[in-house]
Amino acid sequence: MAITPSEGEVVLVGAGPGDPGLITLEALRWLARADVVFYDRLAPPQLLDFTPAAATRVYVGKSSGEKGLSQEEINHRLIDAARAGKLVVRLKGGDPFLFGRGGEEASVLKAAGVSYRVVPGITAACGAAAWNGLPLTDRRLASTVAFVTAEEDPAHASGRVNWAALAGIDTVVLYMGVKTLDGVAARLIAAGKAADTPAAIIERATLPGQRVISATLKTIAQAAAAADIQPPAITIVGPVVSLAAQLDWRSALPLAGRTIVITRPADQSMRLRDQLSDLGADVLTAPAVEVRPAEDLAAVDAALRQIDQYAWICFTSAHGVAAFLQRAVSLGLDGRAFGGVKIAAIGPATAEALGRHFLRPDLLPHRYTGQDLAEEILARDGAPGGGRVLLARSDLAQPELPAALRQAGVVVDDVVVYRSVCPASLPVDVVAALAAGKVNWVTFTSGSTVRNFLALARRQEVALDGVKLASIGPSTSAALREAGLEVHVQAQPHTAEGLCAALLAAEGISP
Ligand code: SAH
Repeated sequence: MAITPSEGEVVLVGAGPGDPGLITLEALRWLARADVVFYDRLAPPQLLDFTPAAATRVYVGKSSGEKGLSQEEINHRLIDAARAGKLVVRLKGGDPFLFGRGGEEASVLKAAGVSYRVVPGITAACGAAAWNGLPLTDRRLASTVAFVTAEEDPAHASGRVNWAALAGIDTVVLYMGVKTLDGVAARLIAAGKAADTPAAIIERATLPGQRVISATLKTIAQAAAAADIQPPAITIVGPVVSLAAQLDWRSALPLAGRTIVITRPADQSMRLRDQLSDLGADVLTAPAVEVRPAEDLAAVDAALRQIDQYAWICFTSAHGVAAFLQRAVSLGLDGRAFGGVKIAAIGPATAEALGRHFLRPDLLPHRYTGQDLAEEILARDGAPGGGRVLLARSDLAQPELPAALRQAGVVVDDVVVYRSVCPASLPVDVVAALAAGKVNWVTFTSGSTVRNFLALARRQEVALDGVKLASIGPSTSAALREAGLEVHVQAQPHTAEGLCAALLAAEGISP
């Protein structure tokens, strides 16, 4: 266990090359404790979800051609925050000590007497190499590797790069310098590296939309320009590049080349994201629902205080379970309070959430819909003598479940335990991918994700032409049809796994 510093300190944290999964456990541990996070453009924004809700997040820009804060300003703000007693995380793309100015920041902190630590990260070269089946060394082809900054224009170079020495290194990795690649390649050739040495430039390595252009040292700059390669991109030069043709494993995955947008709330999207990206899809997340506490808990408290009067409590989402049981704990109750009441869960994810609180549902309907849940409760208990039923749901929950129960004469208390609200906007990468016509699928997991996503898309003026829509179940599909849209697939069963399987089937891939 770490000790909490009584005085502030700065942790220089490597965020990895882009895919949020490529971060270290140590980095996550510091992020989870941060008071302030200063993050670069290259640090994956999804990682901010791992910081405490109360943490201050400061974007410091710093991609090429973008203003952001100046290095001096960043230095000052790091020092000020640490001196104010904060735990400051300085989150940097890749590794902080590889072309990341981590050394300069550490020097400044040292001089100011501010304590700091450094957490390494997977550098872009390693990310690009792994993702594309391109080993940086290989006993058959390469025993030496060099990481070089290609940023400097060789015509006005400081002279720090020893080109002659580099020409003798088996694998040369060029960071930065998409624009100066031409001059750098010419320098390497002039220094004696064979012009026909295989070379590849990798744009947005490990990120959705990654592109790889292969050529030779002589032709790589021209090929990159022809493909309009933009930063961040990294160039790898050496015989190992030719191995990628055999060892590339990602493009063989079933969903390679497909871009899929997930609209689930951030805390629920992880599993679906992982499943789809494990199958090779480029997954973009556009959380279309944000979960907030209910504004007024009086009805929830009243229900909890007389929990024994209910024959059943129905949960229709994992959020409902979490919010309701958290409130129960706040009122001084524990699991024993639910001993006399039967519990129903609409589907496996809700049941799993109950399981985390040592509660096992008495009923999980055969099909995971509100209508089926109502029918199976009525079939068990017989209507209308089954006693009162409590529904612990969101403010936007669907009417089918209470309507079906009430119609059978059951007294229903439908209480709001959490609210779902529409986020302010769609993420920029999602808007860009939609605008460029690159999105193949958008997946929806509730009626509110549909309504919110469509409202945001309209407001941000992006169309869904040519995009296929996947729905988790009947009420989500109904929301899509109400908006005049075609539902291309509906999951069966109505779970994240079912959604994944339906999408694979629609793509003609057997799971
Ligand atoms: N500290 C970082 C490097 C920062 S310098 C690291 O260890 O990776 C920025 C350069 O890194 C970019 O210009 C590009 O050359 C490279 N880079 C960073 N992320 C990249 C990515 N996802 N794909 C390709 N190149 C990347």
